[in-house]
Amino acid sequence: MIQTDAIVLHGFDYRETSRIVRLATREAGVVSAIARGAKRPKSRFGLGLDLFTSGVAHLTMLPGRDLHTLTGFDATRSRPELAASLERFSAAAALGELCIRFASEDEGGAIHDALAFGLDAIGTAADAEVGGRTLAAAWRLVSELGFAPALDSCALCHRLLAEDEVVRFGHRSGGALCRLCAALAPGARTLPPEARLTLLRWSREEEVPALDPPTQRAHLRLLREFVEEHLGDGRALRAWASWEASQR
Ligand SMILES: [Zn+2]
Repeated sequence: MIQTDAIVLHGFDYRETSRIVRLATREAGVVSAIARGAKRPKSRFGLGLDLFTSGVAHLTMLPGRDLHTLTGFDATRSRPELAASLERFSAAAALGELCIRFASEDEGGAIHDALAFGLDAIGTAADAEVGGRTLAAAWRLVSELGFAPALDSCALCHRLLAEDEVVRFGHRSGGALCRLCAALAPGARTLPPEARLTLLRWSREEEVPALDPPTQRAHLRLLREFVEEHLGDGRALRAWASWEASQR
């Protein structure tokens, strides 16, 4: 039995009275658990199992099993603001999907914390900032998953790159490439100085002004390609794709 901070990422009804949920936990990564009796009117889970709610999960975990038992969930922060607009909701779902698919382990809880931070950032953003904050949060998750891209130095030769240098971004190489190394990395995309600065600011958790739609689409494509290269297993990221489609 463990108690751990957790965020509800997904849930569906199971039989008459139960729900099965996916939780991003600080202690155990993303887990599936059954909440028996959660649909009963006086359930001890109350409204705690709403999507994107943070709380303390009481989990009975059986080694070797994929479905654990959730015996309690003390909600500490619900996020109804994410359900208030389709854009925020689909952005939050896209972040959740990255965790569901790739965060089966979470050393030190960094992924859980990055997700919580990202969900709050989306929830409190002005309308025009939702897209940028979602991208920032997604890059942070990608970094916590172990794939921070090289941005201020070349991913291959590690030469420091000048701020105003037009570089290329090689997904397979792991980030920005100097001119010489880019010649060895066919298919690398041109990354203008402004775009690299935006990525750097996101990685430092600095505020970035709202992006115009074409710039945002270019960033979306860059992120998607990077995720597919380093994390992808060939299966489509459906929530991510539908969020991306909503940005056109
Ligand atoms: Zn280089």
